This record gives sequence, C-alpha cells and structure tokens, in this order.
Amino acid sequence: TEATETEKFVLAIDQGTTSSRAIVFNHSGEVVSIGQQEFTQIFPNPGWVEHDPIEIWESVRAVVAEALQKAEINRHSLAAVGITNQRETTIVWDKNTGEPIYNAIVWQDTRTAPIVREIAAGDPLGTERYRQITGENISTYPSATKVKWILDNVPGAREKAEAGDLLFGTPDTWVVWNLTGGVNGGVHVTDVTNASRTLLMDVRTLQWREDICADFGIPMSMLPEIKSSSEVYGYGRKNGLLIDTPIAGILGDQQAATFGQACFEVGTAKNTYGTGCFMLMNTGEEPVFSKNGLLTTVLYQLGDAKPVYALEGSIAVAGSLVQWLRDSLGLIEKSSDIKALAETVEDNGGVYFVPAFSGLFAPYWRDDARGVIVGLTRYATKGHIARAVEESTAFQSAELLEAINADTGVPLKELKVDGGMTNDDLVMQFQADLCGVDVIQPVVAETTALGAAYAAGIAVGFWNGTEDVVANWQEGKRWTPSMDADERDRTYRLWKKAVTRTFDWVD
Ligand code: ADP
Repeated sequence: TEATETEKFVLAIDQGTTSSRAIVFNHSGEVVSIGQQEFTQIFPNPGWVEHDPIEIWESVRAVVAEALQKAEINRHSLAAVGITNQRETTIVWDKNTGEPIYNAIVWQDTRTAPIVREIAAGDPLGTERYRQITGENISTYPSATKVKWILDNVPGAREKAEAGDLLFGTPDTWVVWNLTGGVNGGVHVTDVTNASRTLLMDVRTLQWREDICADFGIPMSMLPEIKSSSEVYGYGRKNGLLIDTPIAGILGDQQAATFGQACFEVGTAKNTYGTGCFMLMNTGEEPVFSKNGLLTTVLYQLGDAKPVYALEGSIAVAGSLVQWLRDSLGLIEKSSDIKALAETVEDNGGVYFVPAFSGLFAPYWRDDARGVIVGLTRYATKGHIARAVEESTAFQSAELLEAINADTGVPLKELKVDGGMTNDDLVMQFQADLCGVDVIQPVVAETTALGAAYAAGIAVGFWNGTEDVVANWQEGKRWTPSMDADERDRTYRLWKKAVTRTFDWVD
C-alpha cells in the first residue's frame, strides 16, 4: 500500500535517568538521527533524588522534534514509536489537571528506608514474601515505597487517591499518557517489564496484587493497565508531531537493552554501563528465583505470546560516580577525561572505592551501606582515585556475573556490553580481565533505544520478529582477558574486603 511505502523508520523515545533521547532507526536497525537533552537532577537531601516530571515531558517533546528534524522526516515516515525508560522512578499526577502532585522520586532515592523496615518488620516472612511473589526484594529501589511516601507526605494526596483522582506511573506511563492526549483521553498503561519493577505485580500472573497494594495503602485505581511490551497502546495526539502515529512498544531500559542486544537464547546476557550498571540474563519462559541476591524480572512479552523472564543484577552507581568526580569533586572536566587521569598511574596503588551512595544493591541489598574510599596512603594521588573509580564499576559487575553463574551453575562464556561507559577501554579491558570472559560491544551501541524500536516495529509488522533483531545485530569491539590469575584473585579479594567496610553506616 501507499502508506507502508512511505513508512521507512521507527522512532524510539529513551526517557533515561540523566537525559531524554529520541532516535530514528531504519529497517536495518541503524541510527539515522538522535535528539538528546539532559534535564535537572534534584538532590534536596542526602540520599534523595528527584526529577521534575514536567521537565521530563518537555525534554521528550524537544528531542522528538530534534530527531525528526535531523532525519529530515515527519510522522508520515514513521511506522511506529517505541518507548523505553528509567525504571521504578515514580510519578503521581492529578488525572483532571495533568499536574504532578510531587516531583518524580527517582529509582536511586533512599528516603523510604524507614518504610521498608516498617513493612518488612510487620511480616513474619520479612523480605522473602515479596520476593517470592514479585521477584523483587522489598527495598527502597522498587516503586511501591515511593508511591506510599508521596501519599503519606503530600497534603491531601491520600484522600484524592482514594477518590480516584490520582494516577501513578513510571516514566513510560507518564510519557504515553501525555503523548496520547493527557487530560483529553490519554491512555494509562504500562508494560509487563516496567510493572515488574514496582513490587506490586505478581511476576507469574502478570497482574497487580491487591494484597500487596493494600500493604502499601495504594488504591488500585491509581495503577496503569498492564499490557504486553509490543502492541498498539494508542496513537499520538498532542503537539501535532506524532499525531495518529501508533505508540506500539514499551520496555524498561534494561530489558530494552537486552532485547536490542538480541539476547533471545536462554543463558545469554548483557551488561549496560550507564548511570548504574545492570546485568540481565535470559532465563526463558519460566521465572527463576535467585539464591544469590539477583532479581527475577520480566524480560519482554510480545503481544499474546508467553512472557520471557530474566535474572537481573542491579548496581546503583557506575557512570554516575564518574559524574560525581566531575561535578562534585571537579577532578575532571568531561566524563571521558577519566581514562587519561586514571592512566597517569600504573595501577590502583592499593586504593579501592566502593560507591555505596544509594546503599548497595545486588548482590548485597544493604540500605545501611554508605560509600568508602579505602587503602589510602600518602602515596595516593588523584590518578589512583580515578583508577579506583574506573575499577569499581568492573568489580561490581564481576560480582553480578559471579552471582549469575552461581544461580545457573553454567558459567557465562561471553558478555555483551553497551552504555556510555563502554567507550572507556580501560574499564572494558579490566572487566574482561576480572571476569575471565570476552567482553563484546555491538556496532550499534544505542541498544536501549534500539530494543524499544524493535518492540514497536514488530507490533506493526515493520519487522517480522526477533529473528530480524538477530540478523541485524553485529559485533563491533571485543576485549579478551589477559590478566595474571594470581593478580586477579588478589585484587578481587581486596575489593570484597573493601565492600564490608561500607556496611552498617546509617544509624
Ligand atoms: P543513562 O542512559 O543511564 O543516562 P548512558 O548510557 O548515556 O547513561 O551513560 C552515561 C554515563 O556513562 C554517565 O554517567 C557518564 O559519566 C558515563 N560515561 C560516558 N562516557 C564515558 C567515558 N568515555 N568514560 C567514562 N564514563 C563515561
């Protein structure tokens, strides 16, 4: 038909933690154009991290316009739009005005530690109960405690929520609601992958759990409808930019990256090095429950097909430590300068940096942990600190791989990687050395956006299915292990000792 001849591209919106991006992809899965805009990180108190939802939405609109303009196309050339997003981040808004009632509480935020303790203490099974149902630990990380905090702390919020006037959503839900008309008929949906990050969804039935919502005092009327990751949810309405364009894919950012990395076989895995670090391994059509501190999460569900699951290791602080070195210490000007600073020294000089800024996530799950720099002597320079920062991401990731291997009993043979920090050779080589496996970066490094584009494109028949994703995936760069085994064991042992120094720091 005439329409399909002009629809040559898919647009992905990547609403990330530090920036919003829109990327136009062609049928080969290649990047045609990128629009990108950073937005404000708000740190009102130690451990608190917020975003302004209006700024998020405005950044999304701006980057969509930018990407279309750079590609010199308009909506008529788009087969579909896919969304991927920072997960768990919690937005509550008034459905009558479209106004958020509080800033977005970001996934790294630890203000809800007292709520975690209160609810876990009230349950004889403690944290285990939630893990067995939802695949997640009760911690400050999932959305549930953040919603409860907003309802408890914003004056009048609970009454409004109970009257059915408030809506909850992660950024995917917020963006789709606004794209599809907002107060004028916006659709209130999320996908199974995002819902699996809230602590409110049963990971087996893929339905909201009424009992858990009751534990947190969250009225079910606030919750979006749970959909698959690949289907037409609605059509663009607002702003004219994407009017009548099908919004047809939603995947949480880490699931999207795993999809974009074509990890469709059981046992394949990827690690993404962004703000945090997230290693996901495909475990097939049945959820697998970890004995080693990993989360059980939905990897994707394509329309009516069975869901596919993953084991996930999550690290809160990776690339954001590089930003901290830049913004809070002023040791470097740009993130990419860290490599040169780290290369002013030969090794870490005995210095280890454990960035437990948001407590520690996998495999420890300690919200009482805080960051430490250990092993300092008068010998240490800023070069050693930079080196310790670089190495901390690789050490944390090595611990995730160790946990995944222990859970599956089958050591991973290679690790696909993506994200901003994979541009740093020093980190990637150290990663291969520590893990003893090849580390592989694909040609298209924008795997998060790509995964969302594929989910949307598959829903409308632009791509046939996952086989097209596999066919388009191409190896770019490979790092192979070269470190002496004794040296590796020694430094890894010292890292683990450094981790123990972070514990029990919050009274
Ligand atoms: P996100 O999607 O979480 O916003 P990205 O994948 O865009 O993250 O990665 C950005 C992160 O990677 C930032 O925290 C930045 O500090 C870090 N980063 C980007 N480039 C480099 C580099 N060349 N060396 C080290 N860190 C980098």
